Amino acid sequence: MGAAFLDMDTMKFLVNHVHCLNELVTSERYAHHDTESLNLFLDAVLDFAETSLYPYFREMDANPAHWDSGTIATHEQIGEVIRKGAELGLLVAPIDEQDGGLQVPFTIHTAANAILESANNHVPGYLGLTLGAAELILRFGSEALRETYLSKMLGGEWCGTMCLTEPQAGSSLSDVQTGAWPDPGGYYRIKGQKIFISGGDHQHTDNIVHLVLARISGAPAGTKGISLFVVPKRRLAEDGAMISNDVSTAGDFQKMGQRGYCTTHLMFGENDDCRGWLVGAANHGLSYMFQMMNGARIAVGRGAAAIAVAAYQASLAYARERLQGRPIENSGKKDVQAEQVPIIQHPDVRRMLYLQKVITEGSMSLVLQTAYYVDRMRMATDLEERNKYHLLLEILTPVCKTYPSEKGIEAVSNGLQVLGGYGYCDDYVLQQYYRDIRIFAIYEGTTGIQSLDLLGRKLPMQDGKAYQLLISEMQHTIREANNLQPLISYSEELNNQIKRLHSVSMHLLEYARKNEYERYLADANLYMDLFGTVVVGWQWLKMAIIAFQKQQEKAVQYSDAFYQSKIHALSWYYKYEMPRTTALAVILTNPQALTLPGPDNF
Ligand SMILES: Cc1cc2nc3c(=O)[nH]c(=O)nc-3n(C[C@H](O)[C@H](O)[C@H](O)COP(=O)(O)OP(=O)(O)OC[C@H]3O[C@@H](n4cnc5c(N)ncnc54)[C@H](O)[C@@H]3O)c2cc1C
Repeated sequence: MGAAFLDMDTMKFLVNHVHCLNELVTSERYAHHDTESLNLFLDAVLDFAETSLYPYFREMDANPAHWDSGTIATHEQIGEVIRKGAELGLLVAPIDEQDGGLQVPFTIHTAANAILESANNHVPGYLGLTLGAAELILRFGSEALRETYLSKMLGGEWCGTMCLTEPQAGSSLSDVQTGAWPDPGGYYRIKGQKIFISGGDHQHTDNIVHLVLARISGAPAGTKGISLFVVPKRRLAEDGAMISNDVSTAGDFQKMGQRGYCTTHLMFGENDDCRGWLVGAANHGLSYMFQMMNGARIAVGRGAAAIAVAAYQASLAYARERLQGRPIENSGKKDVQAEQVPIIQHPDVRRMLYLQKVITEGSMSLVLQTAYYVDRMRMATDLEERNKYHLLLEILTPVCKTYPSEKGIEAVSNGLQVLGGYGYCDDYVLQQYYRDIRIFAIYEGTTGIQSLDLLGRKLPMQDGKAYQLLISEMQHTIREANNLQPLISYSEELNNQIKRLHSVSMHLLEYARKNEYERYLADANLYMDLFGTVVVGWQWLKMAIIAFQKQQEKAVQYSDAFYQSKIHALSWYYKYEMPRTTALAVILTNPQALTLPGPDNF
């Protein structure tokens, strides 16, 4: 079962069996759902993706969003997706029932969005940012803000955005300069500019609600002086009419990919008439925004995994049909009289397809693992359990954002290579996936920034507690695999990999202990690569355990070939991907420091 852009069997295998949907619905929090209805919800999302998103995927690339007389023109279908998506419940799915939501497990919400993003990654962001902005208002906003904005945003009438970046403040948000001046009217006057704002302006909703980071006049420098404001494009006047709130659109960035998803340059208060309303307490804005950003980082990993999944399906379909060349016989010769074979018969093409498979399915499993921990944290009935899942999320989120984004680029690049010359041409879709996926390693904190977060903050946090909890989770899987004879060699290998990761971690932490922080963090990016490779190796062992058990039980949900393909992919990952960690460990423990700041000797 599957669409052109997604193998739904694998998605359901991951959600239901590897990441244990049944455990979630037996909890008090999700007891009002059952696995059957949640699977039907995913089927409905797939149907929506096939009819309302996928057919417009290439059109949106060919007709990019663009600035037109002070506003941004985007593809008409985007409005339709916002409306229908809201009707389908996509904007209220993860919201608690007491706040008017469906309180669907986050795992299901994640799978649903991944389906949409596999179909057409240019559109779901409009919904995702609206939901994220609404969640911030719900969580930290005053009653008045909730009253004014939530029902319209969650009903799909108004969209939302997240405005952090400024020309001088990208990775370094401590340099945000947009200003906020208190007004006796109970609001703040906002002035400044934000760049690269996704979904920042379009014709599809009456209003766009920007969640803006700004600095109240007199606030301390750095991150401790940043506050969060709701700044709508239009505001309610005293007579009840909607009037301009002095938010203007200076331009739309023209990009190599995701061209249907507008990326705007916004000006706030050009005419000194832009009003913003404080969310929560003054100077706490960044910590509130980070709560949205943690979700957004999981969403970025999910989007990258989803694109890589779609590209894999396209490469696979091509490789099964494209006739080219003949097999090499055992004599070392080719029979030129023989028919040409589909390229899927050539070992090097198979290598590229397996690489795509292990990265894409490994990435999706990692994303769903992270979503599962979000659910476990929300389900927790005591503080200790809640803290456990919170810490697991702290350490896994930067990896969940980065592995699918970085390795996804490699997967799609190999997928493009499978098509040879056609891969490079716009007759086929691979070049679009290749351009679309490139942004995922950049926005929501670049790979460099995520890697600093993992090594500099998450590894040592609470004396390494988050890290130790994650290792314990992996060791639990190792113990399970030890009971299944054909998987024992893989569980031993994962154990060795964990030991290697641990010895590299201890080696690097020594620099931190000696206060050599620059040296400690210099190769954070390579540490992320090592860490992510081991974590995805863990995910493959989990998938193989379930596949093996179901194969033994002769479970009829999936075919024997399906289970076998998962076990084969495990072997492939451990033969071709895991050994990369050896080289990474050698580099990371090499005492030479060749990248520290110094003379410009490039
Ligand atoms: C298509 C698109 C959509 C976006 N959507 C949004 C949005 O909706 N809202 C929003 O607020 N922003 C958005 N952004 C902005 C995005 O989050 C930033 O581009 C990103 O955080 C990087 O900031 P920057 O571009 O200023 O790069 P810089 O911060 O200048 O980074 C340049 C390079 O230097 C590295 N670097 C920077 N500082 C350090 C450091 N301390 N240590 C090590 N390396 C470092 C980075 O890793 C990167 O490789 C979007 C960007 C794009 C392109």
